[in-house]
Amino acid sequence: MEHELGTLYEAQKIELQIIEKETKRQTAPKKLQEMDEELKQLKERLEKEKTIFEELEKERKKKEKELDVDKDKIKKIESKLYEVKTNKEYQALLKEIEAAKATNDKTEEDILTLMEKIEELKKDYESSQVKLQKRGKDIEVEKARLDTEVQSMDKIIGELKVQRDNLLSVVSNELRSKYDMLKVRRGGIAVTNVKNGVCLGCFMNIPPQLFIEVTKNKRLIQCPSCNRILYFTDSE
Ligand SMILES: [Zn+2]
Repeated sequence: MEHELGTLYEAQKIELQIIEKETKRQTAPKKLQEMDEELKQLKERLEKEKTIFEELEKERKKKEKELDVDKDKIKKIESKLYEVKTNKEYQALLKEIEAAKATNDKTEEDILTLMEKIEELKKDYESSQVKLQKRGKDIEVEKARLDTEVQSMDKIIGELKVQRDNLLSVVSNELRSKYDMLKVRRGGIAVTNVKNGVCLGCFMNIPPQLFIEVTKNKRLIQCPSCNRILYFTDSE
């Protein structure tokens, strides 16, 4: 029994390594998803920035057209100046021209303001584009690295499982099924060491007489509190 318990304890140590690796391995898909999400958000922001400056660009073109139309209008009024017969009509046309010019000045001012704004937004858009490209490349590298890491973890996990199963193959079926059951019920730890009369699985005291028994590793003893299989070793 001593040999069996020792083997079970070794298998348990490997089991813990498997759990640790598997826990780490499980974070990989989430990391990949987070990176994809980040890229998606960056792309969306870039699209939004583009839409805004394109809208302003449309607005600017519209105003340019307005300006052209209004300039033609002024020219037409100006040509009428030579045809009028009375001073009153002449004065009225001058007033009309003045008003139209004032409107044009305002439109020109608006166009300038729009151009400045567009210039600014274009710069933002271009810098976002550069950022996206850089982050995209970084993420590609990070994904490749993660992929390699996952492959290597899978390989190690596979090897550890073989080691564990080899150890467990010499343990009796009865003990093995107890081990498997406890492993499931006790968070992966079925066999645990004891130290100074304390179970290292649940950290509860073990009755002194029982502890003495445990240190002999002669028979199967389970912790009265957590039910885990107790194995004594002072080499750790
Ligand atoms: Zn315990």
